[in-house]
Amino acid sequence: MTEHADTAQIFKALAHPARLRILETLEQGEACVCHLEALLGFRQAYLSQQLAVLRQAGLVGDRREGLNVFYCLMDERVPMLLRLMRGKEAAHVDHVSPAAVLPNCSCPRCRS
Ligand SMILES: [Zn+2]
Repeated sequence: MTEHADTAQIFKALAHPARLRILETLEQGEACVCHLEALLGFRQAYLSQQLAVLRQAGLVGDRREGLNVFYCLMDERVPMLLRLMRGKEAAHVDHVSPAAVLPNCSCPRCRS
């Protein structure tokens, strides 16, 4: 019963286009909030709200480094689920790597 409740919470967290984009980005490596903001074009308040849902479902974790909070995937099933759901479209997905330096971001990685 508890196991099914947890699974349902994971699917609820996944059932949102913005949260799927966040997970697809974090699949390629951790990123801080301002970096996700610059990369995905979401407002920070909106982003924090979506990240909180993902964190509550145990899908992402956060790590504070100075003034920045970095997010990463916490559940190894997420990449499997994303791959499964992408199916045939996988070949057409063209991600911007979170490791890329973004001109409109002020996180430590982009500034250095
Ligand atoms: Zn950045």
